[in-house]
Amino acid sequence: MSHHALVIGAGLAGTASASALVHKGWRVSLLESGDTPACAASALPVGILSPLLTRAPTTLSRLSELGAAAMHKELARLLPEGQGWQSCQIQNLGHAPGQWPAAMVQPSVVIDAWLKEARATGSLETRLNTPVDRLSQSEQASGPGWEALDANGQVLCSADAVVLAGAWRSVQLLKRSGFLPDNLDLFPLRPVKGQMSFASLYGTPLAANPMRNNGVFVPDFSHLPRDGQPAERIWAMGSTYERGADDASVTWEGHLRNLTSLRALSTQAAATMAHAMEPPATLRGWAGVRCASLDRVPLIGQMPDLVRWAAAPRSNRGWPRKLQPERVPRLPGFYVLTALGSRGLTLAHWAGKELAALISGSTMGFEADLQLAVDPARFGWRQLRQQIRPV
Ligand SMILES: Cc1cc2nc3c(=O)[nH]c(=O)nc-3n(C[C@H](O)[C@H](O)[C@H](O)COP(=O)(O)OP(=O)(O)OC[C@H]3O[C@@H](n4cnc5c(N)ncnc54)[C@H](O)[C@@H]3O)c2cc1C
Repeated sequence: MSHHALVIGAGLAGTASASALVHKGWRVSLLESGDTPACAASALPVGILSPLLTRAPTTLSRLSELGAAAMHKELARLLPEGQGWQSCQIQNLGHAPGQWPAAMVQPSVVIDAWLKEARATGSLETRLNTPVDRLSQSEQASGPGWEALDANGQVLCSADAVVLAGAWRSVQLLKRSGFLPDNLDLFPLRPVKGQMSFASLYGTPLAANPMRNNGVFVPDFSHLPRDGQPAERIWAMGSTYERGADDASVTWEGHLRNLTSLRALSTQAAATMAHAMEPPATLRGWAGVRCASLDRVPLIGQMPDLVRWAAAPRSNRGWPRKLQPERVPRLPGFYVLTALGSRGLTLAHWAGKELAALISGSTMGFEADLQLAVDPARFGWRQLRQQIRPV
């Protein structure tokens, strides 16, 4: 009998993980609190898939290079070009000026395609309107496993392994489950609100390519409504970056910020946006909440047992600066993929595949220093190291 995994959250991170696990022969139950997959940050109308360009390589630029290459291939495998995604050249006006290969992508189309493919194998069960209140360790026929419980303590699902992909709300779930020590911030995830402004496009686009400086202008994208209506051509400008804000309301102030960013890219496009803001306003907005970690690097890997770790006596001998993953107590069968920040499109597929390999008993296939950089135990290591005491 195949192993059974429970995945929490049907955004890019959760569906990419579910899809990769099904490819590896797992049965997967995907639990989502919303009434549709891609209902939170991954509902964005259009995003850009592109590597992060930095003066010298950084952890995130190296990860995004791996992710962008993998996601481009995956898009070409999964969907015909023009249906939810479109290759393009992005024009960088500020840092790293020039044209760079990229793609415009509607994440919900990719998510629906992953789910459709996985369901066709008979190995995926998707449960919507199913908020997981907490997780608890349990005994499965095959050994130790996990139970997802609702707010009444009823078991929603049991499985051999769990992948937490609930973005910034993962912290609340971990707290309710008793997996975070009370007075330490060992799992620092932060909400970052983003608002995009967009409108229908009639006639000739206002630029040949997407443009990026402080924000991205997408001049022409064929957006697929989720209710099956025909595709609509849109232009879009985004996005605001509002640290600490965790509401997804569209505001006039958000539009004004996007207008200011657009002025720095194209005066002609900014004039069109300003016109669309005048009555009768044709400008629309969409807002979502990204999840960022304290060091802005994603969390990919096995969950540390933070409560046991924080309570354990520690000696200042043999506790080096650099994380030693083998010394970290872990929750068996509990994995996490989150904090994709502004790079979910680039990273989710690649990270989901690497995580599925780890869950299936292989090692992750990328450089050791990057594995340390994404380890969900890194914050615990740094903070507990500062509190070491003789034993
Ligand atoms: C305005 C804006 C613009 C962006 N532009 C880009 C871009 O150009 N390129 C790019 O790569 N990325 C972009 N991003 C970022 C990208 O959208 C995110 O990185 C990505 O969607 C995150 O996916 P996720 O699955 O981690 O989170 P989410 O999509 O937020 O999914 C998490 C899911 O978990 C569910 N959940 C949480 N807790 C529970 C629970 N207890 N029980 C059940 N379900 C639960 C939630 O309902 C949600 O559906 C942008 C984001 C925003 C907001």
